[in-house]
Amino acid sequence: MALVVQKYGGTSVGTIERIRNVATRVAKTFDEGNEVVVIVSAMSGETNRLVALANEVCEFPSDREYDVLVSTGEQVTIALLSMCLQSMGYQAKSYLGSQIPMRTDSSHARARIKSIPDTNIRADLAQKTIVICAGFQGVEENGAITTLGRGGSDTSAVAIAAALKADVCEIYTDVDGVYTTDPRMVPEARKIDKISYEEMLEMASLGAKVLQIRSVEFAKKYGVVIHVRSSFDDSQGTLVMKEDEEMETVLVSGIAFNKDEAKISVLGVPDQPGIAAQIFSPLTESNITVDMIIQNVSSDGKTDMTFTVPKTDCKKALQIIEPVALEIGARGTSSDPAISKISIIGVGMRSHAGVASQMFATLSKEGINIEMISTSEIKISCVISEKYTELAVRVLHEAFGLNKEG
Ligand code: ADP
Ligand code: ASP
Ligand code: MG
Repeated sequence: MALVVQKYGGTSVGTIERIRNVATRVAKTFDEGNEVVVIVSAMSGETNRLVALANEVCEFPSDREYDVLVSTGEQVTIALLSMCLQSMGYQAKSYLGSQIPMRTDSSHARARIKSIPDTNIRADLAQKTIVICAGFQGVEENGAITTLGRGGSDTSAVAIAAALKADVCEIYTDVDGVYTTDPRMVPEARKIDKISYEEMLEMASLGAKVLQIRSVEFAKKYGVVIHVRSSFDDSQGTLVMKEDEEMETVLVSGIAFNKDEAKISVLGVPDQPGIAAQIFSPLTESNITVDMIIQNVSSDGKTDMTFTVPKTDCKKALQIIEPVALEIGARGTSSDPAISKISIIGVGMRSHAGVASQMFATLSKEGINIEMISTSEIKISCVISEKYTELAVRVLHEAFGLNKEG
């Protein structure tokens, strides 16, 4: 007997027929003699619909009420899946985040998990009950509902698997594994059999939405092996696990892209100590995550400070930055939302020189201008104009030998 944690994403529970399909799969796992804990997302499109409603009511909805609203999608699917299993003759029980309880801090809309007591779930499992948990949501110490950020059900699943010391953690989605790049953009993309936590962390943080980044952090910290697979067939998917020797022989494992960031520049900033802190501290205080930063001193001793923020925070960031720019004597600010970040990722890059120059040469051959660059041991990212995203991903995918054969 094994303890199996399964997570089903939005598309997998997108219709009643698909919820029935999930129930059949869950029932089969239970019939094989396993204890089963299921985490579900909202039906596909539902969370987007709720976010749009919030934005219709006001421009900057309060984080607390945002969480009350957007967490409702998962309440629907846990009930429907439980009902479906019960009608098939199984004992099933649904849990909201607050009922598990999934305890988090109080940073609404991006809450971090603090603890997951396992008493309630274990008591049900001991009674041969299939446990169905709402993904994405938790509860903070005063009882308010929190959510874990978009795509957060992956993190709920991996954290629950870690808390229960589950034997298996399966993430069921609408593709049959992690690919060398988004298979919806590049049909030649290849399925990866095994990927290291480090590479998956980079892929996720650089735009591959197949797993939420926090879920991979959890998996790495607690040694949870994640099996990413399709809810529509039985094929073997991708194992996300500790690096092994086989993985190091591949130079570049994958290519990610992110069109969700915007570029902001503070122009003609005096080149003196303390300026960077003055610009970035108020952004941090407002919970705006700054990603890439470049600064360039010109001969007149002035600096252009350019950085990227999530597109959804661009307006807010400009509102914060404009008075600061005035105060520090900068020439002004500018912003560009039509950018895209393209990244190549691979643990094999640690021991190879020349990968960056191959990337730059490949982009230059297509006449694609590189606006910003950042590197780490196992990744290189370039910011380019958004309109070249697909072209850049395709040519890099081919240049680094990632296209599937035939
Ligand atoms: P779910 O609703 O099941 O959580 P998501 O839409 O969050 O599913 O994630 C699955 C999607 O991730 C796929 O449909 C695919 O378009 C996208 N994706 C992006 N990059 C990759 C990649 N490298 N490998 C597989 N899928 C990817
Ligand atoms: N329903 C949430 C979202 O769409 C969480 C998830 O699906 O993982 O972001
Ligand atoms: Mg997802």
